[in-house]
Amino acid sequence: MSTLVIKDLKVSVTENEQERLILKGVNLTLNTGETHAIMGPNGTGKSTLSETIMGNPAYHVVSGQILLDGVDLLKMSVDERARAGLFLAMQYPAEIKGVTNIEFLRAAINARRPKDDQISVTDFLALLDKNLAELNMSTSMAERYLNEGFSGGEKKRNEILQLLMIQPKFAILDEIDSGLDIDALQVVAHGVNAMASPDFGTLIITHYQRLLNYIVPDYVHVMMDGKIVKTGDAKLANTLEAEGYAGLRDELGLDV
Ligand code: ADP
Ligand code: MG
Ligand code: MG
Repeated sequence: MSTLVIKDLKVSVTENEQERLILKGVNLTLNTGETHAIMGPNGTGKSTLSETIMGNPAYHVVSGQILLDGVDLLKMSVDERARAGLFLAMQYPAEIKGVTNIEFLRAAINARRPKDDQISVTDFLALLDKNLAELNMSTSMAERYLNEGFSGGEKKRNEILQLLMIQPKFAILDEIDSGLDIDALQVVAHGVNAMASPDFGTLIITHYQRLLNYIVPDYVHVMMDGKIVKTGDAKLANTLEAEGYAGLRDELGLDV
């Protein structure tokens, strides 16, 4: 089992040449085999948390720790974090000019394997075919340049293809549901559910409860004003949907 532990994490960003504290002490423990969801209103720091875990330099860790199996993640480069088994599906997936999807996927898989044990072309293509079929994707999409000219839905689907191919220990999926129609949402959810295993843990970040009808989390955390203010099971997402964040604010006596 692997564990990702976030301890009293405080993170700031630079705004108008001043530091503004966004995360104000986040505590969270993810184990492989578990599905966690973070919900919360816009602008509360959900993406800040995922960007910080992946090492985006725009996010400045003021204090606190992130440990992957006891190892200090904050000392690792973005590359090292990916090789250690983290995967981040970004809210706005990047286009990378001149690199095809297939080239990217092979490189990403091989980066996580020892030099003398790189994946063979045959094994790679077999794995690719299996996962393309899982996601109702065509081979031609895999041959295209990474995310270039992809629609919003295709980009999200492609992120899930990467997830299935790379088989990380932990994935942080930031708003993979935004802008998806119901069919694309189901395909994405199917892909994430296909990852389920004792060796895989996921953190799903979403505004809406809808995605959680398809990917049922073990834990739901609510983030408000840079902190996790409540943790519950999947039912918490339904309560939020019914009562809104305002209801929770009242319940907790928050004035944010
Ligand atoms: P959420 O994902 O919950 O909607 P974010 O983490 O994206 O929230 O943003 C939290 C706050 O931090 C917002 O006020 C946002 O404007 C600010 N913020 C996020 N990223 C940056 C950045 N790179 N530079 C400046 N401000 C940022
Ligand atoms: Mg947002
Ligand atoms: Mg966000």
